[in-house]
Amino acid sequence: MASQESYDAIAGLTKLLSEKVELGGIAAAKIRQLTTELEAIGENPFNPDLRIKTGFHYFRTEKFEKNRGMFEQLAKGQSPKFMVFACSDSRVCPSHVLDFQPGEAFIVRNIANMVPPYDKTKYAGAGAAIEYAVLHLKVENIVVMGHSCCGGIKGLMSIPDDGTTSSDFIEQWVQICNPARSRIRADSNKKLSFDDQCTNCEKEAVNVSLGNLLTYPFVREGLLKKTLTLKGAHYDFIKGTFDLWDLDFKISSSLSV
Ligand SMILES: [Zn+2]
Repeated sequence: MASQESYDAIAGLTKLLSEKVELGGIAAAKIRQLTTELEAIGENPFNPDLRIKTGFHYFRTEKFEKNRGMFEQLAKGQSPKFMVFACSDSRVCPSHVLDFQPGEAFIVRNIANMVPPYDKTKYAGAGAAIEYAVLHLKVENIVVMGHSCCGGIKGLMSIPDDGTTSSDFIEQWVQICNPARSRIRADSNKKLSFDDQCTNCEKEAVNVSLGNLLTYPFVREGLLKKTLTLKGAHYDFIKGTFDLWDLDFKISSSLSV
């Protein structure tokens, strides 16, 4: 049997489309098609193709068709005010959490929302995104957004002091924020639980990433010219809270390029 969830999705779509008189014929055909696909699921409780098609259909009818003007503008180009670094964690999509609309935020997602330091060979992917956002899109704000229960940060905090690692990529990647781990470990006289240490590290790692952003010449230039601000953030999906802070630093002219 197909999952109840899938049937619920179809039921929701049916109700939604039936309310649109002008789409009646199209809606009926679409529902027939989806139902046929759902029936074809058989023993498989989850059909990824159906989920994707249903999702896009909802987006097209509810967002795209209703905001044609906005999408026509966006077809000409983008000028987002924000660049956001967020974790790849499926629970922390910035477009959902911060209600960003298409065109509002240029987003990079990776394990534990880390910004690596300027390095043309090791971290070209991150460098290219920052370069494009700052120099070409001219974003006005870069936000690094950490979050509660971050598996990447937990991984970082779990690396033994002798630095032994067992993963192909993960531990090497998260060690970008080793300085945060060191600071939290040095604070261990506070006798915090491991979970509390991880929570503190989630925030401290954001500060390390903000510091790493200063290693990019075009970021420093934007800060000096006051065309760019750097912000740290932490989203807690257990408490339902969002902390936002500015990078606390004094940039000297010696940092200019
Ligand atoms: Zn995470």
